[in-house]
Amino acid sequence: MTSSLPYTGRYAPSPSGDLHLGNLRTALLAWLLARSVGGSFKMRVEDLDRVRPGAAERQLEDLASLGLDWEGPVLYQSNRIDAYDEALAQLQEAGLVYECFCTRKEIQAASSAPHGAPGAYPGTCRSLAEAERATRRAQRPAALRLRAEVTHWTVTDRFAGDYRGQVDDLVLRRNDGTYAYNLVCVVDDHYQGVTEIVRGDDLLPSSPRQAYLAQLLGLPTPSYAHVPLALNTQGQRLAKRDGAVTLAQLLEAGASRESILGLIAASIPLPALPSGASPDSAGQLLEVFDPALISQEPWVVTDPLGLLAGPGGKNL
Ligand code: GLU
Repeated sequence: MTSSLPYTGRYAPSPSGDLHLGNLRTALLAWLLARSVGGSFKMRVEDLDRVRPGAAERQLEDLASLGLDWEGPVLYQSNRIDAYDEALAQLQEAGLVYECFCTRKEIQAASSAPHGAPGAYPGTCRSLAEAERATRRAQRPAALRLRAEVTHWTVTDRFAGDYRGQVDDLVLRRNDGTYAYNLVCVVDDHYQGVTEIVRGDDLLPSSPRQAYLAQLLGLPTPSYAHVPLALNTQGQRLAKRDGAVTLAQLLEAGASRESILGLIAASIPLPALPSGASPDSAGQLLEVFDPALISQEPWVVTDPLGLLAGPGGKNL
């Protein structure tokens, strides 16, 4: 079932550090796709783990400073535990949850066995007898896994088309009690009314799992738009080690906000504004935005500082 509700997009950063150019680009694309059709846009901070103090606030400030806006309060996942408890209970009542005592090492060893699907949980704890579970429970806390009844699921992606991917007995709650990304993402995308999920294409393989979970929870399936990531010149995912890649670092190095927004816009690649000026806010990019322009190639970020200023660099 694909939703026919008014378009609602979202951006859902993990507050593990400052957003880099690739994150900002994904957020901008998500915002442009929503606003260009008069849709709403929601914000969610995925703060169940990997939280760096102050990072969420800085991320939101950076997004707002580029002109991104959103409806309603920011949703913090740390305030949503009751909703996750409820979703888990629903799956438990349907007999779709089991305890797993495997260590990471055991899973790695088992899932790289010749007949296992690579990367999939091989179901080691799926059929443990109650007595066995009681013994194991005394040794280490259990993670909770989904008793998946399919091995594959198909989602519809704006760019990838019909994408069929693996579904395994994914973790719903880790053994430290933290709810897992796949579950909370599904619960919250529905809660926020999201109709199209725009995010980096590293998460395309997670989408069949999430769509399957949504179906089990009786929720409508959103559509997806996975966009290519930003890479460094070695072809690796852009990261802090690549130098000045966050807004703060680039501003500090003398780049203007307009030139940074212009750099991101050019990577999409959007044409120049009719005025020829650098965009000073995301809203101006709506004038030239067309989803058909979005490149399906990763954005290779070649030393943004060199691009921004200085001898041999292009002044943007
Ligand atoms: N929080 C995830 C991240 O920052 C994104 C999750 C999502 O968009 O579904 O990578």
